[in-house]
Amino acid sequence: MRTAGGLGRLGLETVEDLLRHYPRRYGSPGEMTEIGRLVPGEHVTVMAQVRTAQVRTMRSRGGAMLEAVVTDGRDTLQLTFFAKRAGVLRMHESKLVPGRAGLFTGTVGEYRGRRQLTHPDYIIVGVDAADQDEAMLEASRPIPIYPAAASVPTWRIGRSVRTVLDPLVEEDVPDPVPEEIRKERGLPTLLEALRAVHVPDDPEDWRRGRDRMRFEEALVLQTALARRRAAREALAAVPRPRAGGRLVDALDARLPFPLTGSQREVGATIAQDLAAATPMLRLLQGDVGAGKTVVALRAMLQVVDAGGQAALLAPTEVLAAQHLRTLEQLLGPLGHGGMLGGADTATRVALLTGSQGSKARRVALAEAASGAAGIVVGTHALLSEGVQFADLGLVVVDEQHRFGVEQRDALRARGAHPPHMLVMTATPIPRTVAMTVFGDLETSLLTEKPAHRAEIATHVVPADNEAWLARAWARVREEVDQGRRVYVVCPRIDADDAPEEADALAGAPESDAGGALELDDGAGEAPKAPLASVSETAVMLGERPELAGVRIGVMHGRLAPESKDAAMAAFASGEAPVLVSTTVIEVGVDVPDATMMVVLDAERFGISQLHQLRGRVGRGSLPSVCLLVSRAEEGTVGKERLDALAATTDGFELAEKDLELRREGDVLGAAQSGGRNSLRLLRVVRDAALIDEARAVARRIVDADPELHEAPALAAAIDSWLGEDREEFLERG
Ligand code: ADP
Ligand code: MG
Repeated sequence: MRTAGGLGRLGLETVEDLLRHYPRRYGSPGEMTEIGRLVPGEHVTVMAQVRTAQVRTMRSRGGAMLEAVVTDGRDTLQLTFFAKRAGVLRMHESKLVPGRAGLFTGTVGEYRGRRQLTHPDYIIVGVDAADQDEAMLEASRPIPIYPAAASVPTWRIGRSVRTVLDPLVEEDVPDPVPEEIRKERGLPTLLEALRAVHVPDDPEDWRRGRDRMRFEEALVLQTALARRRAAREALAAVPRPRAGGRLVDALDARLPFPLTGSQREVGATIAQDLAAATPMLRLLQGDVGAGKTVVALRAMLQVVDAGGQAALLAPTEVLAAQHLRTLEQLLGPLGHGGMLGGADTATRVALLTGSQGSKARRVALAEAASGAAGIVVGTHALLSEGVQFADLGLVVVDEQHRFGVEQRDALRARGAHPPHMLVMTATPIPRTVAMTVFGDLETSLLTEKPAHRAEIATHVVPADNEAWLARAWARVREEVDQGRRVYVVCPRIDADDAPEEADALAGAPESDAGGALELDDGAGEAPKAPLASVSETAVMLGERPELAGVRIGVMHGRLAPESKDAAMAAFASGEAPVLVSTTVIEVGVDVPDATMMVVLDAERFGISQLHQLRGRVGRGSLPSVCLLVSRAEEGTVGKERLDALAATTDGFELAEKDLELRREGDVLGAAQSGGRNSLRLLRVVRDAALIDEARAVARRIVDADPELHEAPALAAAIDSWLGEDREEFLERG
């Protein structure tokens, strides 16, 4: 059957899949699509009224054609059907009666300057009804518009859904939301909600159904998280209380700076967690430079003071080595345990990496196993390689908010008492996401940054305004003349190159233009124009009068390592004070004299990426400026992103904004976009309050009935959700 095949292509294989394939939005028969806004090439579903329809024979080609014109009351759209014989077209003609409204779906084309759909699929509102009354009702019902494909128009999905839905009775549809909770919150049953969502009588109906589905999604997810949490809390950890914190106090006494209020606060919370007999699992978020390392070190020393050991895991060997140096410097004699001149409370810090020499490695392994090293620094391999610890009490994971299942299993496999765990990240994870996805982790924020960071002023510059651009390049010259450095960032390496983007925004799905009740704005991409490339921009800048005589360097991922080093050295020394680069400078580059960054085609980058990029300037005490050159037009999401960046340098505020501007499918990554049994309706920003409530309900349910004996449908919903490779998704963190 054609429909069945088509539905399969949409990933709708079971009855449940189909019923859970919710309408994206609802058309209302009175509400027409703005035809003037249709973009050629887009696949659309349009609500419009038939104005004329006429069959003509084409003498030249010997066939027949039907031309119909539909309108939204202002603009018109032409529908064209071709056939060998006119007879076939009469069927269409009899349906396309002037005055009737319908939904038309197809790809927008242009013919002689007029927009048209060729061979559109369509449905005329209210004509399938059996009698007059039903026709009236049909004609006034909101029309569900499903995420569809060109081969499977929305109404074919709708029809299949109704075929499946109509004969169902309550017993057929076990409800994951327990009855008691439903009553408490005044929610419809699952079956009632499915009917309301798929065959609503009025907008109130589908809203009620949709809200219930949202709650259900939140409840399933939060109950899964609550169960994990309960399981974790049932484990016993060794308490490592702060009492007699000799190393902690000694470190505090020798720190060259006072701790920020934030560091103290978070420190106190962690100190408490470590003293508990259940394993800590805490996510510490703090923007780059917020001072997470000291917080981690104080926690590690508390554990050492209490007789245990701590491991600090970095994402790369280079960063592990850097951590070792930082810790040794902060500790001074406190880290020289057993050595001449070491304090008597002192411990040792060992480094374990795959690339170190076998002798150094043997020594480090011995120190870890004997307990001589209170702190062991390494990469994640440290855990999986079965390194022996005398008494591992705390694992700190740095800059990795995706700490996978294997690592956590490796930790659990370390005997009866799992260590406490602290996960640190500079990637701002908004509270709302943390709550949804990391629901079983506690989270802490380092909100305050150590003082004396320079201001970065950010401005959005329209790319098509030559006067502004000239001013921008003149400003670059001014910085250079003052002995400072300037980054110019481009999305591509050279002219015939794909963008070198790390976090390109996910493409928008099929876009329906329509009399939308819930229509998301499109991604708002600017019209396609060639993107700035490193090679072209370097040449262009060399020719700008403003920059005459200034040496310009280039940097990108395809350069040989020596060329990269040379380019960086020339930039750092000021020999080539302007560096045209791709986003490779995003990580690890630290040039304190860099005071300006110009990002070309800035709308091509995501918010977080621009935030990271911008972090390359303003590192010294000099005030800095960041110019975001863009073609994004006012009112587009792209422009809104840039405006958000111009408005704040607060990474968390930006992350929240980013979420708000993304479609739900992008928020949690591929794991939940479009697939089956995923978060279909829930959005972490908009539904934050709902998620909070669901979390409280979930904890209540799990506290009363940890195995969910009383709520089998909820248990099944969780299993099916987790079955889809979600385990890892939950394990993030
Ligand atoms: P991140 O959170 O990015 O890991 P770090 O821990 O590396 O940040 O700290 C960044 C810099 O700030 C380091 O040089 C560190 O010594 C310094 N620092 C940390 N805490 C403070 C503080 N309270 N006052 C001043 N400087 C601090
Ligand atoms: Mg750090």
